[in-house]
Amino acid sequence: MLFALHLFSIIDSPYFRMEQEITEPRLLKTLSKDEQALRFIVIILLALSFVAVLSTRLFVAAASASLMILTCWKEFYKCCHEDWEQGKPSTRVAAINVGESVDRKAESENNQVEKKEPATNICSACEKKNDSLKLCNGCKCVWYCDKKCQNRHRREHKKECRNIKRELDKRGGTLDIGTEVQLPPIPDLSPQEKCPICICVLPITGKLHIYNACCGKTLCGGCDMQHKIKNREMNARENAKRAQMKQPPIPSTCAFCRTTLPNPKAELLDRLRKRVERKDSLAINDMANHYGYGDHGLPVDQMKCIDLLGQSAGLGCPSAQCQLGIFHYIGGMGLEKNEEEANKYFKQAAEGGHLISLHNVGCAEEIAGDDVTAMRHWRMSASGGYTPSMEALIKCFEVGLLYHGDLAETVQAFYLARAELWTEDRNQYIEYLKKTGKYKEAYNY
Ligand SMILES: [Zn+2]
Ligand SMILES: [Zn+2]
Ligand SMILES: [Zn+2]
Ligand SMILES: [Zn+2]
Repeated sequence: MLFALHLFSIIDSPYFRMEQEITEPRLLKTLSKDEQALRFIVIILLALSFVAVLSTRLFVAAASASLMILTCWKEFYKCCHEDWEQGKPSTRVAAINVGESVDRKAESENNQVEKKEPATNICSACEKKNDSLKLCNGCKCVWYCDKKCQNRHRREHKKECRNIKRELDKRGGTLDIGTEVQLPPIPDLSPQEKCPICICVLPITGKLHIYNACCGKTLCGGCDMQHKIKNREMNARENAKRAQMKQPPIPSTCAFCRTTLPNPKAELLDRLRKRVERKDSLAINDMANHYGYGDHGLPVDQMKCIDLLGQSAGLGCPSAQCQLGIFHYIGGMGLEKNEEEANKYFKQAAEGGHLISLHNVGCAEEIAGDDVTAMRHWRMSASGGYTPSMEALIKCFEVGLLYHGDLAETVQAFYLARAELWTEDRNQYIEYLKKTGKYKEAYNY
């Protein structure tokens, strides 16, 4: 095993308590020769101008200071623009880019492993098919229609691009170093649950989901918020009248089935209980959380929480399976630490395509020394848009485990999945959470 990934969770929400973080970059940052030389020149010039100022040779001081500024400016300009230079037309760059892949294709044919062709004809920003795409010159992984598409994608792509580019620079432009391991194609990910209103894949973190016990539907926060805004606008006049007469405002309705939302909250528990009796795995999972954290006036009951989670997990709810895995892993909710038991639950949820669990199984495999199985799992969760898995794979590339071609293929799938996860309404919901101080960085995973 080349390195160890650390896996830990932060319990923080009554819904879905699962944020994975991978710590410790495995390779120490080393300066390239160019950077070392630059640093040396700047120090010399700085010393020179200092001495010149002391000995009142103002001309020498001015000359070395301007030279220093010029050197820094040139480097600064290079840093800003290098990542965003357009590559050559795709046909030509493709030949360079997949140079290694061509050899590997022959190799993989020998090994009878079928490799998927990377999506080099889909723009990572607008997702349109285009035959004359240009390669990102920084990471040499993603393709764009033009500079405009590239700039639009910059915010999303910046971090991955910088990390991959840093490694490529270290390698002097070579994509692969020869120690990489052969991987099968990215396994197909089971279809992810969608929001029944916007028909987009639900956000990965359950903190951005709204479960309504009236219809038993899980909606995305974006759709729920838009519906509440419309509700408020529609009832504004009537509510103003009611306020004057000191009457309660018209209650909101469910964004999906338009049933009046429970008010007071005790009604919410009654509705939930009815669903629990009908063995609705999502309702049982929700109820488990309310008991675990004493929400809506319920007494905190950890045993009841674990019992309900077990029932929900038994009915095949991946969130409950993952949650149980986490409690076993960290020894939470009154359970004793038990990694074996934790992995059992992570594996169950991973089979259902649960992204966070796929990532966790990957971490467990990596810790156990099976890098290939770990990468297989991470490639799946990354292709569903899960950022910590993408980060883990970039680290695998940095230590020479993952071919650049395989990395590129995953990065492309990652962005396609991410594009499906974020809608205008969801972004607005995030803005609202940020304004009200309820947002956490991990929600964006
Ligand atoms: Zn485009
Ligand atoms: Zn890039
Ligand atoms: Zn939605
Ligand atoms: Zn409903």
